[in-house]
Amino acid sequence: MVENLEHLAKTMTLEQGKPIQAARNEVKYGADFLLWFAEEAKRIYGRTIPSSRADQRFMVIKQPVGVVAAITPWNYPISMITRKVAPALAAGCTIVLKPAEATPLCAIEIFKLLEKAGLPEGVANLVTALDPKPVGKVFMTDKKIAKLTFTGSTGVGKMLAQGAASQMKRISLELGGHAPFIVCKDANPVHAAKGLSLVKFLNTGQACISPNRIYVHPTMKAAFLEELKKRVTKMKAGDGMTPGIKIGPLVNAAAIQKVDDQVKDAVNNGATLVTGGFRMMDDNLAKGYFYAPTILDHVTPSMSIYRQETFGPVVPIIDYEDEDNLLEMANDTDYGLAAYVYTKSYSTATKFFENLNFGIIGINDINPTSAAAPFGGMKMSGMGREGAIEGLDEYLETKLGGFSLNC
Ligand code: ADP
Repeated sequence: MVENLEHLAKTMTLEQGKPIQAARNEVKYGADFLLWFAEEAKRIYGRTIPSSRADQRFMVIKQPVGVVAAITPWNYPISMITRKVAPALAAGCTIVLKPAEATPLCAIEIFKLLEKAGLPEGVANLVTALDPKPVGKVFMTDKKIAKLTFTGSTGVGKMLAQGAASQMKRISLELGGHAPFIVCKDANPVHAAKGLSLVKFLNTGQACISPNRIYVHPTMKAAFLEELKKRVTKMKAGDGMTPGIKIGPLVNAAAIQKVDDQVKDAVNNGATLVTGGFRMMDDNLAKGYFYAPTILDHVTPSMSIYRQETFGPVVPIIDYEDEDNLLEMANDTDYGLAAYVYTKSYSTATKFFENLNFGIIGINDINPTSAAAPFGGMKMSGMGREGAIEGLDEYLETKLGGFSLNC
């Protein structure tokens, strides 16, 4: 993957639309999973446990769970594949993967490389499909499949989990999110605005860990908004192969409609449109699904954007007065994937880190992800973790042996 970085990145930009530099970053991140799990494969240890019986010994070993079925999304069309394939192979499982119908070409390139790298035939298998349902059905019902791993929407994840339950298949699910981004009273508003502008518009907001509710204290609103607006209005949308482009297209017509509906609903219910709020149609942009980077101020819980995942380039800012209620407000969501907090206080940071009901917490940090770190959510954001030793465990069974010395 590293040797083929430019080719893979270009394939991704042409197929999925993200700017070429972001595509390069994703290829490197994707390659990290193969490297990290290749190293970690050496450390799939068992253990011995002392018994209270003098004649008995306990031994615990880890074994591959069996054939893995994987379903991946279009938004990170390469790294989401290696994040599943790498731990499956490290654990000793074979895998069959169905990529999203919008991004089969990235998947084909990765599987070509797996073959080129010498993986024996039949160990990693790719099934592309325009209609995912029949493949999903086989994944849920074929007895040869021991584990189902899925990244995508909460609705499809629930359906797959229900289907897999009839055979008690092992499952891991990485689903949607609705991340709070909390700017505490003691934070540096300019630094926080810079962080938000970087993380929110990654992949044009089409990421499950994208901030969706931005809580900013009124005393710092002016400075925060000024910096954010300055940065957001400079972002250029267009062909990801053109240098300097920061905003790629949304995935399809339904996605742009959903974003626009949320923005209109917010404005109709009293939000202030600071910038953006429209589909971009100038020059060649009308040929794609480009939505202008948008800032909404004074968003309230009555608006759909407050609860629904957006998956687009929209920053909804929510006012708060009292820091004591912040934790409750941030946790008031069915999702539990990522949360972000800006504060200079160690005790505030610790309080939020320990009490936010989310699987990934960025404290003054907008990139709390790595192949070495466990990624995953609570509640409607799914179950299981990817990356790190937790990510390897998802592909392993634990077997206990009780050995008697009397024979
Ligand atoms: P999104 O709305 O972000 O496209 P989806 O959950 O629909 O998210 O898609 C994520 C992945 O799930 C894709 O690979 C897609 O093909 C797959 N998928 C969608 N519906 C089904 C289904 N009924 N059975 C199996 N896979 C599905």
